[in-house]
Amino acid sequence: MGSRPDTGFDLLWDELGALENEAKKPVEIRNFEEFTRTEFFDGEELRFYADADRFGEELRRIAPDDLDLVNSLIGDLKYMSRFKTSVAKEKGGIFSKIGSFLSNLGTFRCYLKHLRTPIGEYANKWKSKYVREALCNVIPPSWSLGSLTMGLAMQHTQAAGYPVGGSLQFSRNIERGFLESGGRIFYGSRVDRIVVKNDRASAIRLASGEEISGDYVVSAADGHSTLFDLLEGRYVSPQLKKVYDTFPLFPSSVFIGIGVNKDLSDLPHAIMIPVTGSFTLPDDSSRSHLSVSVHNFDPTLAPSGKTTVTVILHTWNDAYWRSLAAGNRKEYNEVKQQTGERIVEILEGRFSGLKEAVEVIDVSTPHTVHRYTGNWHGSFEGFAPTPTTLMTRLPKTVPGLANCYMIGQWTTAGGGIPTAAVDGRNLAFDLCRKDGKTFIGKTF
Ligand SMILES: Cc1cc2nc3c(=O)[nH]c(=O)nc-3n(C[C@H](O)[C@H](O)[C@H](O)COP(=O)(O)OP(=O)(O)OC[C@H]3O[C@@H](n4cnc5c(N)ncnc54)[C@H](O)[C@@H]3O)c2cc1C
Repeated sequence: MGSRPDTGFDLLWDELGALENEAKKPVEIRNFEEFTRTEFFDGEELRFYADADRFGEELRRIAPDDLDLVNSLIGDLKYMSRFKTSVAKEKGGIFSKIGSFLSNLGTFRCYLKHLRTPIGEYANKWKSKYVREALCNVIPPSWSLGSLTMGLAMQHTQAAGYPVGGSLQFSRNIERGFLESGGRIFYGSRVDRIVVKNDRASAIRLASGEEISGDYVVSAADGHSTLFDLLEGRYVSPQLKKVYDTFPLFPSSVFIGIGVNKDLSDLPHAIMIPVTGSFTLPDDSSRSHLSVSVHNFDPTLAPSGKTTVTVILHTWNDAYWRSLAAGNRKEYNEVKQQTGERIVEILEGRFSGLKEAVEVIDVSTPHTVHRYTGNWHGSFEGFAPTPTTLMTRLPKTVPGLANCYMIGQWTTAGGGIPTAAVDGRNLAFDLCRKDGKTFIGKTF
């Protein structure tokens, strides 16, 4: 979100230098003709075109008995695509904020309608079995319809593109700006405790035993471990207890990266392919479709003439992978290898000749995700976006504990990179105000 100028979130990436490379040149953004496509067992396919009108034509073709639903969806997508958020807290007085709120009111209402509707309930309104199947393949039925339509609406205005170089370059660009501004980063330094004195956070203690004191402690790490491990469960308010006891999570994933010695530029970049008889992961999660990405749109991800293909399989059974990795490393490695090979077999059925061109298979599991990020249950985006979770505002402070803040995906249901970045900016603004300093963002 915010890959196009003047869409609101672009201010964040601009300030962070996230979309500017080492040579101070703008990062190339790829916008796609198709957001994704779903193929069905009988050979039919549904293309989620980025352009809402074209997507409407596709829906009328595949769902001729659902014309009212098609028209209303396309109308909503166009309406939602006009929504412009303002992340600049410091900009404008109360009247300009009210003015901006009122001018966005219609779009906001439309968003609200989509956020409040569970996607399963919405899918069931469609007579077309293809649309029903495609919607339920993409997103679990209890999640909010908005979690799909918000992304689709942004495709219509090319406001959410892909930065060439992917997430690593995006992060490196931010890191460079941070270091140039005098920031310091200590990689490979796990925090074990937030040190508390008289209900006031005063320092962090690293796994090495070293203590680093500070005026404020800000945890942008996993929410569960911040509250229950780093703070030993001493500051869990009734609201947070309820949230961590009841809110559903984004799943974790088994992620298969495949290096293919082939130019696959003729293939779609994102595709859901049906699996005959379904596919069951060793952790017992089964899938009727595989979500395949062909990274033919980013030349930095493979040598010339070769292509990276990835398959992501969601799972909520992180316990299987973590206990296998802890208990029997050899078997864990074998299971990973077999899973990767089985996926390549399935892909061969759809993309003939792919198997013999495979040079490398790399499999990441929920254990890997947990090892790298510490995220609770290996979740890839925190609390799942259901109508209930999205309507709940989570605190950015730790109730009962002074000088301690929590930001990032665990403090806004639905997670994601833009919300995490907004949190950082908002907190910087608040701390500047608290310290009597002027917040300097690019808006000045
Ligand atoms: C495959 C995939 C695709 C995605 N696609 C998108 C997308 O297209 N758009 C989007 O918006 N989002 C996407 N997401 C989600 C997005 O990546 C996350 O929501 C976002 O990165 C959350 O940022 P964060 O800073 O809150 O947390 P994280 O990115 O999890 O960062 C937390 C950091 O804290 C560190 N940490 C944790 N515990 C400790 C500790 N005890 N001590 C020290 N350090 C610690 C971790 O190592 C990590 O570096 C995707 C996620 C995945 C996995």
